[in-house]
Amino acid sequence: MIKKVSLLALILCLFLAVLSPVSVQAVDGLAILDSSVEVDFPLKLNFSVSTQSDVNITEIRLHYTVDRMSYAQVTSEVYFEFVPATTVEADWSWDMRKTGGLPPGSSVGYWWTVEDAKGDRIETKPTKVQVDDARYSWRSLTEGKVTIYWYEGDESFARELMSVAQQVLVRLAEDTGAVLEQPVNIYIYASAQDLLGAMIFPQEWTGGVAYTRFSTIAIGISPDSLDWGRRAMTHELTHLVIHQMVFNPYNDLPTWLDEGIAMYAEGALEPVLVALLDKAEAEDSLISVRSLSSPFSAYAEESLLAYAQSYSLVEFLISNYGQSKMLELLSTFRQGSGYDEALLKVYGFDMDGLDSLWRS
Ligand SMILES: [Zn+2]
Repeated sequence: MIKKVSLLALILCLFLAVLSPVSVQAVDGLAILDSSVEVDFPLKLNFSVSTQSDVNITEIRLHYTVDRMSYAQVTSEVYFEFVPATTVEADWSWDMRKTGGLPPGSSVGYWWTVEDAKGDRIETKPTKVQVDDARYSWRSLTEGKVTIYWYEGDESFARELMSVAQQVLVRLAEDTGAVLEQPVNIYIYASAQDLLGAMIFPQEWTGGVAYTRFSTIAIGISPDSLDWGRRAMTHELTHLVIHQMVFNPYNDLPTWLDEGIAMYAEGALEPVLVALLDKAEAEDSLISVRSLSSPFSAYAEESLLAYAQSYSLVEFLISNYGQSKMLELLSTFRQGSGYDEALLKVYGFDMDGLDSLWRS
């Protein structure tokens, strides 16, 4: 019985949390009676509105924006098709399977505009909805610009991960001068399986994700796999810091550089990856630097080789040309440089040149 009561209370809370404040907005007989959004993480956001006028309502639009790092604030609009009437209820589902998903903790701003046959028009105040993963009861721990969210394991588990995160930040600042510009949210799922449940069309081998534009990381780490967790935390946090550092409106980093720096930050290459690399070299099946500049293969073995090679390329550049050249390369990318241009400018060779130097 007690369980039932508390469950009901929980459902009520969730329900109240997603109802936006019904600021009764009215202009000359035209009114928005109600508007709400329901979060069905990670699949959907369900928006609905109820509106009324003394003449027919002729137009309803939903406007929404996603909070993330960008150079141009993009507002999306949804037009509703309906039979004009004095009372209209409209709803729309944002299907993430069509657009790609949002990370946990992201925030979406939205407002409605409604017009009637007299030409009267009302617009609701922009409201924010937080897209949380309500499948778990999250606890949180904040230190400086880093907040860790977790739900399995005790506080010492979270503290251990926090100390890894803080060490990574210190080391990156020393090695590359890159510092966190935005606060970062790190979601620790208790397993890879739980993490996959937070993603849209995930690749099965995904153990961690850096949503660089959202300054958010999600990793699957069970409290008894801390060793793996330390590497994963280092890897994903490095992605975030490097992306904040090189963020520009023109160009992204080549994948091998992005992944290679994150792998290099983890420490020595794992033996299984060293073996893959040796095997590919012996069989002459190494991937070209040019192909490694695009997103990696969805096939596990091929992508593992791509990661191993990326590590090796970055290690090659740093040990032969030094840390300062790597910094110069990142600053060149920050200016929006193309892949070949950046390498040529800093090292004097392009991607093909790097390919043959590295192979020899
Ligand atoms: Zn990565």
